[in-house]
Amino acid sequence: MIKSADRVITNTSLNKDQDYHVHCNYNDHSASDLTIKNVISRAEKIGLKVIALTEHVRRTSDWVPRYLHEIRAETAANSNKLKVISGFEAKILKDGSIDCCEGYSRDHFIVASFHTIFEDKKIWMEALMTAIQNPDVDVIGHLAPEPTFDLDDHELSDLASLIFSNRKIIELNAKYHRPPPRWLLKFKERAVQFHLGSDAHSLQEIGNFSRISDLIAMVQDDSRNSNGRSNSP
Ligand SMILES: [Zn+2]
Ligand SMILES: [Zn+2]
Repeated sequence: MIKSADRVITNTSLNKDQDYHVHCNYNDHSASDLTIKNVISRAEKIGLKVIALTEHVRRTSDWVPRYLHEIRAETAANSNKLKVISGFEAKILKDGSIDCCEGYSRDHFIVASFHTIFEDKKIWMEALMTAIQNPDVDVIGHLAPEPTFDLDDHELSDLASLIFSNRKIIELNAKYHRPPPRWLLKFKERAVQFHLGSDAHSLQEIGNFSRISDLIAMVQDDSRNSNGRSNSP
């Protein structure tokens, strides 16, 4: 199925020619010229190898069949130099479920993200842990604590272990500059896999990761993960 192939790709690398979080104009909060056709031609023009279309979905979204059909049609017409993944960004709800019909989440690439403030660390934490254990979820999007709380190092380590054992990807999100650097380093310590997401809501933002060059460098910098190793014999 498409999903397992996607996992192989997302597990490999932090490549700047792969953008795993791109919106389009199926909701009204993106630029009107952000059509699927324009997204694909822009991605090809700037030399991307992989994009995931991850439009905001809800269980009540009635446009999903049209959206999937349009992606299929446009993908059939493109040059094959670009791999286009069809997916959704689904909101994590208070009970830890995601706001997406199972029929769609099972077979498509899913970025699960917090989009509302819970103002309760315990509920937030439990919802996140449930989402991480959801087999339909591929990625946790723009992960960060709420303004009223943070996680300590011990909590972060436990979280990182759960993410790792459930083979979820943590997204380095260019729109929100997340996750926080301290979280990123804890995740890296536990061998969590990362990938890049522009969270583009306009054509110019697709594949643009300049805002998170510091986070990218942190992931790629091996000395930060050396546990005191040295090069001396
Ligand atoms: Zn989001
Ligand atoms: Zn998004």
